[in-house]
Order: sequence, then C-alpha cells, then structure tokens
Amino acid sequence: MSDIIKLLPDAVANQIAAGEVVQRPASAVKELLENAIDAGADTISLVIKDAGKALIQVIDNGFGMSETDARLSFERHATSKITAAADLFNINTKGFRGEALASIAAIAQVELKTRVAENDLGTQILIEGSQVKEQEVCSCAKGTSFSIKNLFFNVPARRNFLKSNPVEIKHIIEEFQRVAMVHADISFGMYNNGNEVFNLKKGSFRQRIVGVFGEKINQKLVPVEENTDIVSIKGFVSKPEFAKKTRGEQYFFVNDRFIKNSYLNHAIQNAFDQLLSKDQFPSYFLKLTIDPAKIDINIHPTKTEIKFEDERSIYAIIRTAVKQALGKHNITPSLDFDQESTFNVPLMRSTDVIKAPTIKVNKDYNPFETKPASPSFQKLDNRNLTKQSSEQWESLYADFEKDTTEIITHQKENEEQQVISSAWDEEDSSTFVNAGTQALIQLHAKYILAHLKSGSLIIDQERAHTRILFEKYIQNFANGQGMTQQLLFPETIDFTSADAELMNELQSEIKQLGFDFEKMGKSSFVVSGVPVELKEQNVKKIIEGLLEQFKMNESELKLKKHENLAISMARSASIKSGKKLTEEEMKALVDELFSCEMPYSLPNGKPTTITLNLEDLNQQFDY
Ligand code: ADP
Ligand code: MG
Repeated sequence: MSDIIKLLPDAVANQIAAGEVVQRPASAVKELLENAIDAGADTISLVIKDAGKALIQVIDNGFGMSETDARLSFERHATSKITAAADLFNINTKGFRGEALASIAAIAQVELKTRVAENDLGTQILIEGSQVKEQEVCSCAKGTSFSIKNLFFNVPARRNFLKSNPVEIKHIIEEFQRVAMVHADISFGMYNNGNEVFNLKKGSFRQRIVGVFGEKINQKLVPVEENTDIVSIKGFVSKPEFAKKTRGEQYFFVNDRFIKNSYLNHAIQNAFDQLLSKDQFPSYFLKLTIDPAKIDINIHPTKTEIKFEDERSIYAIIRTAVKQALGKHNITPSLDFDQESTFNVPLMRSTDVIKAPTIKVNKDYNPFETKPASPSFQKLDNRNLTKQSSEQWESLYADFEKDTTEIITHQKENEEQQVISSAWDEEDSSTFVNAGTQALIQLHAKYILAHLKSGSLIIDQERAHTRILFEKYIQNFANGQGMTQQLLFPETIDFTSADAELMNELQSEIKQLGFDFEKMGKSSFVVSGVPVELKEQNVKKIIEGLLEQFKMNESELKLKKHENLAISMARSASIKSGKKLTEEEMKALVDELFSCEMPYSLPNGKPTTITLNLEDLNQQFDY
C-alpha cells in the first residue's frame, strides 16, 4: 500500500485551530485587545457592528509592526513574545502562542493597517480565509488597526451556531470589561453600531471600576490590600449591605489577567461569613500579583482557569485580607464613604503579621439549650432554617408556636363549618379545588398554608408567583405582545453602559413583555408603560433585576432567549418573600397558581408547593 499520510495545508490546519481559539465574536475581541495591550498602546478603541458578526475592529496606538512582521503575524506559531521554552515560565505578556491572528485570518476577512513610529508609511494587508489578497504600502496612524469582517464566513455551521445579537454583544461587553478594568492606565473606548458604549479615561483602579459600572458603585467599595512574599493583593470588595442576589460583579485578576477560580471565590465568600445569608453574593474586584514562575498559565487559550503552585496559602491570605478589610469597614464605616473617587488611598497598610479577623459572633450560642426543638417544626422548614442565625432561629420558633395555634384554631373552625368539599390528593392534582372556600394563612410572610382534607398544602408565595408570571410571559411571546399600562409619569432610568447596550439589543423583546420605552441620551431610557400586572411597583428595580437575571441565566443555564427573558422577568417582578399578603391576594395567587400548566414547580424544578400529610403529622405526634 502506498503512503497515505499527508501534512494538512496551512489554511486547513489554521481553520481547525480556529475552532478552538475563536468560538464566538467575543473571543476575537479578547485576542485583539490583548495584542493591543502587549503592543504598549495607551489608547485602544473597539468598534463593533452587528454584535461582531459584521465587524470587529480594534485600533491601538502601540508600537505597530514592520512590513515583514505584519505579514508574519498571520503565520501560525509566529510570535514576538517568547523565543524559548524557558520563557514560558516568565510570561509578562497576554499572548505568547502566536496562534490568534492565524486562527482569526483562517475564518474571517481581515484587514490590517499598521505603522511603526520611525516610518512615514505603514503596511496594509487584506487576508481572507488564510489567503493574502492584497498587501500594499499605506498611510496610516502610528499603531495598529485590525478589522475582522464576516467572522466564520467560510464556516457556515459555526456562523449559524452563533447566538442572537443580545447574547453575543453581552459576551463582547464582558470581555471588554475584563480587559479594560484591569488596565486603568490605558484609555479604552467601545462603540456598538455607532453608539458609544464606553469611554474610559486613564485613572486609578477605583476610577476604572466606577467608569465601567457607574458612579453608584463607588460608595459600595471597601479597599483590600495585602502584601506577602507569596502574593500581593489589591482591590475592593463590596460592603456586605450591598451584596447581590446573583453572582454579578466578581472579578479576580492574576498578573493583570482575568481568571475564574471557585476555590478562591470561596475564600471571599468565607471571609464574609456571617455577614451574608447563603443566597447573597459579594461583589469583588481583586488584583493578585504573583511571581509568574509560581503559576501555570500555559493552559487552553480560551480558558480562564489558572494553576497556582501554592493555592492553599493564597486562599488563606485572601480570606484574611478580606476579613480585615471588612473589619475595618465595620469599625470605621464613614472613612471610605468620604473617600473621593480621585484618591485611591488604602485604608490599611500591609503588615508582616496577618491579624485575626475582627468580626464578632458568638458561635457557642445555642438557642435550644433551654428549649428543645419541636420535631415537626424542624421537618416543616428544615432546609431553610438550619443555617439561619441564632437570633432568627429564636424568633421564628416563637412565631411558629403562635402560627401553629392559629392553624389549629383555623382548622377547627373550618372543620366545624364543613366548608371543605374536596380533598387535594398528591397523586391526582386535578382534584384541587378553588381556594375560595378555604381559609388561607400566611406563614412568616413567606408561605401560604392551605387546608386540605388529607392534610395541608404549603405554597411558597415567591415561587408560586414566579411560576404564574413565567407562564404569562411565555404566552406574551407566543401571542406577540403583552398588555401595557401607561404610566402617569414616565420614569427615566439610568443604566450602566453595559446594561444600556443590553436594553438596546433586547428592545423588541422587552417591549413584547409589555414595557414601553424610548432611549434618551447615551445610557438612559424613558419608560412610559409597564406590563399591566406590575401596577405601581418600582419599575427601575424590576428592569435592572430583569437584566441581571437575564445575564446570569444566559451564562449559567444557557437558556433560550424567550425562556430566559420570561423567567428573568418573572423572577424580578414576582411577589417576594417577606411581603405580607391580604386574604384576597393569597386567594388570587393560589387560584392563578392552579390554573398554570405546571403549578407544582419552577422551570428549574424547584417546588412551588409541598404537602403536609395529615397521617405524617399524626405520626409525628405519636398518635
Ligand atoms: P501572540 O499574541 O500569542 O504572540 P498573535 O497571533 O496574537 O500571537 O499575534 C502574533 C504577533 O503579531 C504578536 O506576537 C505581535 O508581534 C504581532 N501583533 C499582533 N497584534 C499586534 C498589535 N496590535 N500591535 C503590534 N504587534 C502586534
Ligand atoms: Mg495575541
């Protein structure tokens, strides 16, 4: 048999490599921004059209490339950043593989214009699917401009695989923010379809965070700083009172590179310890500086993981540094409130000895020392209560005793009046009758207790309402339009730049939910109508909640756009735990819940109701 193995042509090899390096427009954005930083630029602009599907352009004022380098930069494994294997252990640049440009040029139409300072004329190269189409001398500014047009034009399967524009632009903004945030000494601009999304001036890290997330974040930041032999830490955590319901703004940078690390994330969560409940997340922006020899970044180019030589020590140092910072904040909360955004004075100087945290909680306190816990109570609410703080335990316990008496009296009354005509049976849910004939009781401003012949049904008010709204919004999308209630006084809402862009991109869908709004200025919108069911609620909070949920669901659950918007909006607009409900409100809620297609759980499978079987109760009481 003759030899059959052949070396793949470069264009094919590059296209295969591109599959790994460039997964979506945002990956090309990241590579180009990083190249511009490596080129020593202090001004970088990113221009996007059609969520990067039509154009991604990065313009920098860095050192540019000679004619030969310009041509060579598109070759695979062509890099100016390392020369020997040993360099891999001392990487101070973002790039080092020499793969990005070769990959991008294999799957797009690329135009490069570049000029070095010492030449009057620069070089222009057009390259398409790895084929150089044109190379000529051109006049252009010092520095480099890469335009990537029609990404994946020759890989239709990939192009079709791209998500909708709002999703792709969200990814692009995320990459942009990650890069821009940690390089406060570089001016960054971002433009999407002609709109200016970001215009970030040089400044301190704090000013950059404010530039990216808006002025309001300034007062939420507590400075963190620590210098040890192993690692230096500098940055900010959010004050506990500003913790979020979703993991939004959590940023670790190691040697100016954005990374994800759940172990170190845990160190921070742990430092907040008793200050947050388990469904709250702190924001943080921490820059770690470590000897490059002690980390391994030689992993997959698109991944954000990193390997540390001494992860356990870093964990301990981060945890202590954050605890100390929070301790300082608690003792002297006014200090950094007064801090101007122009100053970045750390509240704490690093010390050689790491001090113990200063948060005081009496961990030995046991509220049940004198009172044995009621077993049925534990069963009732086990999941939520076991981790509650000691004070809450006690008050809930007291409440529960009160509530239980109420329940019993209600039950008696109901039985005497014989108003219950039918039993709700776990196997046959259709036999649930209209709640109108039953007394409904609210427990802990969180659950609704409905009496059944065979026991009791406990409804989680927030989840129940979320289910109801979710189905309503899915219907809206199916029918084309939700009902709008015009506001008497239209409300102007200022968004962060990223959220304003997301509003732009999701405009027609958010209108389908029932909102009516117009863009006004760079990142403000005037909302003149809201979905009818929202009534007089806080519109700003609901829209912000909607966007936040949407972003989180998109990255963590990979939901489809409509489904995501429907659940995000439902979560944001639902009646929350803690709200006292009137008898009518409870009745309406229960009625609506049981007219849902899937009343018993949320789309993520979490239950909206649980049953307390009478037999089980009897058993618990040892009858
Ligand atoms: P890497 O960044 O890993 O070296 P790339 O494929 O991204 O690989 O880039 C190849 C080379 O092209 C770089 O090493 C650098 O020399 C050059 N280059 C790329 N972008 C720029 C830029 N914006 N300015 C100057 N040189 C650049
Ligand atoms: Mg690169």
